Amino acid sequence: MKQISHWIGGRRVQGAPGGRGEVFDPATGAVTGSVDFADGPLVDQAVLAAAEAFTSWSTVPLIRRATILFAYRQLVVEHLDELAALVAAEHGKLVADAKGEVQRGLEVVEFACGIPHLLKGEHSVQVSTGIDSHSLRQPLGVVAGITPFNFPAMVPMWMFPLAVACGNTFVLKPSEKDPSASVRLAELFSEAGLPDGVFNVVHGDATTVHALLTHPRVAAVSFVGSTPVAKSVHEAAGRAGKRVQALGGAKNHMVVMPDADLEVAADAAVSAAYGSAGERCMAVSALVAVGGVADDLVAAIAKRAQSLRVGPADDPDAEMGPLVTAEHRRRVASYLDVAAEEGAEVVVDGRGVQVADGPDGFWLGPCLVDRVTPSMRVYRDEIFGPVLSVVRVENLSDALELLARNPYGNGAAIFTGSGAAARRFELEATAGMIGVNVAIPVPVAFYSFGGWKDSLFGDVHVHGLEGVRFYTRAKAVTTRWPSGPEPAPSLSFPSTD
Ligand code: NAD
Repeated sequence: MKQISHWIGGRRVQGAPGGRGEVFDPATGAVTGSVDFADGPLVDQAVLAAAEAFTSWSTVPLIRRATILFAYRQLVVEHLDELAALVAAEHGKLVADAKGEVQRGLEVVEFACGIPHLLKGEHSVQVSTGIDSHSLRQPLGVVAGITPFNFPAMVPMWMFPLAVACGNTFVLKPSEKDPSASVRLAELFSEAGLPDGVFNVVHGDATTVHALLTHPRVAAVSFVGSTPVAKSVHEAAGRAGKRVQALGGAKNHMVVMPDADLEVAADAAVSAAYGSAGERCMAVSALVAVGGVADDLVAAIAKRAQSLRVGPADDPDAEMGPLVTAEHRRRVASYLDVAAEEGAEVVVDGRGVQVADGPDGFWLGPCLVDRVTPSMRVYRDEIFGPVLSVVRVENLSDALELLARNPYGNGAAIFTGSGAAARRFELEATAGMIGVNVAIPVPVAFYSFGGWKDSLFGDVHVHGLEGVRFYTRAKAVTTRWPSGPEPAPSLSFPSTD
């Protein structure tokens, strides 16, 4: 049985004063590890290690920080297979998918390598007679990151490389369901030359999170997870006077117009709805069929969904893995009964799927539910599994109205051959990330990631320039070097000439 411990001050720290969590192999259902939970005093130890490291790290020259990030990038590339295997073993996603996740996280490290350029301020000469102005951005101090189970490498990497590059120190509280990747990422950062205490990892549950949110030395909090927790974290951290961004859940709509290529749209829908068993915050869970496309589109998706191969992460022929825990699998599967009771049509039911190598794994095959209406729970709730609901509407205006009424606003996509429809969708869709003939429009690291409405509490998205802004605070400096005779002092508010 694997023992997963914390990473504090540049070394592994064992201790479970806050209890322990079980880590599963979702493909077999077996318990494979035990993760130590931190309590308040252990969180305090991690935050104080980070606070102490901040004093010197915040003054380390930008070029030196960039050099460490370049070395880290190289180490993550060299250990990509190992990191992907850790993710796959505890999360259950396919190894190829896990590699993609690490790669997308690596993009943020690469973006952060440009920190000397990203932190350049502005400078204006002679804003008034003999007076110059310039601006700078300074780090905040200790930043806490709290992350979900579904991307145990990528989501932490949305946060800590940029926060650290900006001169902050970091305490990460990863998901207790798949905690190993974060500790390995911390070890590799240390190997790359990051000073002790700059990046720390503590494991735990809501109690551990609470200790971070209320710790007086934590200056800012980045959270990614479900909407109810995001909302409560945003409120608690805000009450404690911290800068906070809290990304929440999603119900991502993919609108298919009558002029779309249906084969292309069906392929995209299957990949976006069932990839990673639907456990992606950008997964498509609501397919909006416009005009007369529904019958043909549903048939095309059903055919593909029925032929998808479900299997363990390391099976090269598998296309979809298990769900993360037995409890989550039960919850997701229960929506098929709910859908049928509410009058929807269950076209593909994945509950019968069996995998010979893992009879006790948390399997659920692809599920497709047609004739879903906005009042049904299968549409309203974030299910977070391989369940795709089809909602039929008359026209693009109805599709946009549907999106506007949905409380979530993470991603939204349109499939169409019409530039006019695409442009209208881009401008009017109420979501933070839009895809045009792209079902999962996750922005590259030099753009920012984030949703609208109940998918993000706070003002600022993650990574990209928004990330730099979140992890720094602005200062404006006004400079004057008097020489020669000075005018008589005036008590009037100075004018600008
Ligand atoms: P979750 O909200 O249950 O947990 C997220 C983190 O919060 C974990 O570290 C967990 O330990 C902690 N936590 C759980 N309950 C808490 C509580 N009551 N108080 C304080 N902390 C608590 O989310 P999850 O199930 O791990 O992840 C799936 C969710 O994350 C989905 O809703 C998904 O849409 C969302 N997600 C969103 C994005 C995004 O970018 N918007 C990205 C990935 C995942």
